[in-house]
Amino acid sequence: MPELPEVEVTRRSLSLQLPGASIISVQLGKPLRWPLGCAPEALVGLRVASIDRRGKYLLLRLDSARSVGSGGDEAGYLMVHLGMSGSLLLDAVPPTPEAHDHFVMQTSHGALRLRDPRRFGAVMFVDGLTSPCATKLLGRLGAEPLSDAFEVGPFVAAVRRSRLAIKQLLLGGQVVVGVGNIYASEVLFQSGIHPARPAKELTDASLTRLYAAIREVLARAVGRGGTTLRDFASADGQMGHFQSDVTVYGREGMPCVACGHTIRKIVQGQRSTYFCAVCQPI
Ligand SMILES: [Zn+2]
Repeated sequence: MPELPEVEVTRRSLSLQLPGASIISVQLGKPLRWPLGCAPEALVGLRVASIDRRGKYLLLRLDSARSVGSGGDEAGYLMVHLGMSGSLLLDAVPPTPEAHDHFVMQTSHGALRLRDPRRFGAVMFVDGLTSPCATKLLGRLGAEPLSDAFEVGPFVAAVRRSRLAIKQLLLGGQVVVGVGNIYASEVLFQSGIHPARPAKELTDASLTRLYAAIREVLARAVGRGGTTLRDFASADGQMGHFQSDVTVYGREGMPCVACGHTIRKIVQGQRSTYFCAVCQPI
């Protein structure tokens, strides 16, 4: 599943090429998780002004582009979620549509495609980020882990208010976004915290280590192009390299890279968690 680092890598890749592009046509394939929310023709003539990200949603801001060189009026946003298996690809030459291309947007800067075999992804038009649809999807998201707004004090306080196990709290995304299943195992290993520990029992020192690990692991994953644990590729088709940095995830039965004890797997909320009982006693 594409996680926050992969989505951020996609955003950075598209941001080099797509801003300023005028939309020429939009074609839909099979239904995605949610409908587009407008007629595809309604997007024709709009211009992609910028590409932002909130959690795992890419936000393509569209403006009306009344004249070349002018800042047009804001027309709305395309919110893109990659779901379980989606990837966004931008090709200079319009490609032959493939079976799993369920959203194809031809622009003056190339053809943007959402390729999504499992169709849990979505592309949605909203007329603003305060619209009911946007608020429903974005309104409860926690802090952005790579932004200056993610601060250790509020993080510690928010974690302590929870009754959940720390792994499940991280996965929920309401304290901090972006710590998906792979990264949750990794950051807890790096900070020496047992994944089943109740969040409210963790000390300031443990949570300060966890805060630092979240920032460091996610920033490193972005810097290395995301993970290839799933079939992820950024918009220019480059594969990520984070997989070689993974220390515990997917390594059940193998020796811990730090102490040599056997990595264990447990299931929490139907998701696999990997940890070292010796290195993560807290
Ligand atoms: Zn260990």
